[in-house]
Amino acid sequence: MSSSDNKYDAIVVGTGPGGGIIARDLVKYGKKVLILERGDDEPTRGKFSQMLGRGWIPGSQLPVTYSGKPIVRGITTGGTSNIYTATAYTPDFDLLERFGVNIRREVDELRNELPIAPIEDRLMNPAASLFMQSANELGYPCKKLDKFIYQDKCLRNCDNCILGCPNEAKWNSRMLIDEAVTNGAAFINRAMVKKILISSGSAFGIEYKCKGTTTKAYGEKIIISAGGIGTPLLLRKSGFSNVGEHFCTDPAIVVYGEIPNLKGTGKAVPMMTGFHLKEEGIMLSDLHVPRVLKSLFDIHAFNFGEVSKYDNVIPVMVKVRDDLSGKIIGNGLVDKPISKADQAKLDKGREIAKQILLQAGAVKTYSSRPISPHPAASVKIGEHLDENLKTKFANLYVCDASAYPAPLGLPPTLTILGMGKRLAKHLVSSATESSIGRAEKSGSVGLV
Ligand SMILES: Cc1cc2nc3c(=O)[nH]c(=O)nc-3n(C[C@H](O)[C@H](O)[C@H](O)COP(=O)(O)OP(=O)(O)OC[C@H]3O[C@@H](n4cnc5c(N)ncnc54)[C@H](O)[C@@H]3O)c2cc1C
Repeated sequence: MSSSDNKYDAIVVGTGPGGGIIARDLVKYGKKVLILERGDDEPTRGKFSQMLGRGWIPGSQLPVTYSGKPIVRGITTGGTSNIYTATAYTPDFDLLERFGVNIRREVDELRNELPIAPIEDRLMNPAASLFMQSANELGYPCKKLDKFIYQDKCLRNCDNCILGCPNEAKWNSRMLIDEAVTNGAAFINRAMVKKILISSGSAFGIEYKCKGTTTKAYGEKIIISAGGIGTPLLLRKSGFSNVGEHFCTDPAIVVYGEIPNLKGTGKAVPMMTGFHLKEEGIMLSDLHVPRVLKSLFDIHAFNFGEVSKYDNVIPVMVKVRDDLSGKIIGNGLVDKPISKADQAKLDKGREIAKQILLQAGAVKTYSSRPISPHPAASVKIGEHLDENLKTKFANLYVCDASAYPAPLGLPPTLTILGMGKRLAKHLVSSATESSIGRAEKSGSVGLV
């Protein structure tokens, strides 16, 4: 490899929605980009065993907090979006704008380029319809949610979303990486980035380990998109002392209602309908998961008598905007207690879910224990990052869920994509300005 082979305009670490969009857009703008991902790049098979390996192994992919609450994330090309439930929730623009981040235009552009729409009636399932109808009867503003789904490829009576969709119906950021690679990006899987190279207040590369070999790569811009846990960990190893503290995870429980005469409710797209109580910081939606996962949730909550029940059950997810009580300890242990305020929100959400389920005809309700699907706000805009997602070091940026300035309690992917799109434009426009400056001084044109 000649020395110019590992010099790039930009290096992107991580391939979730944050890394995917920034890599894809920078390549579109003509930049030479290297993408590094610690996980595998195997084709998605929609199998439980594969999902387990990519996101749910305690202590590895799945950090388990001291209090035993799992924080779920995906370690594979596409990151957590491989196993997400594909709800495209409109960002809280006002909150972001209070921190100087306006992504309205970028979100409009994303709505044009990605498959974002409410689920078609043909894919609706009786349990989700009954949940929406019963919530509306009680006065809750429940409606169909926008999904990131190519609905012409989506199968009725299928529960593969959360396992990883093998039909390419569920949009995920693996598709952005494929596009970036098709257009010329260099991409290395099973490449664990260990350290960011920084000198005289400026980042200039990274060090990664792949197949037992440690290698350095050099970039004009370094963008860390390793997710809400991975990004603060990497920054800590690179000399940042105060990141990875006070983060949120949007804890969620599932409340089940058993309805004797309901038929055919089992397999479906999760989160087809839902509503958000903004003041209370509580979101409710239907949540169909594969039978095996529901059984695991039942066992985790000691609901042993419910393990075999599936087809006549309406599952309702309650997700809350939590306190910033998360903390990464040392080089990887995670602590994320459920505070009293979080528990009060979960309890309130559970009561609302029960009311809705009883209205729907449930003869029995029971709940899962909390899991945490959205680690975020661990390297915050306004505290660790400026409004352009830049760290205190020149040329070093963060683009993922960590950058959230505050807890939102809502599905974050559309917000992350909007922030990434805006960052790509910023890098390209600031490069043009600095290139012109440098070219004027030296008579040459620089990289990004
Ligand atoms: C079960 C579940 C359902 C969800 N459903 C929804 C939903 O419906 N809608 C929604 O908007 N959001 C949903 N989410 C959340 C959403 O998927 C995540 O918030 C989003 O993927 C975060 O994107 P990210 O770019 O921050 O990081 P991630 O998607 O977590 O990607 C980070 C990537 O970085 C890689 N990485 C980490 N460390 C390193 C390193 N040192 N070197 C190299 N690579 C590294 C990881 O392997 C990973 O691929 C869900 C999450 C879960 C768990």
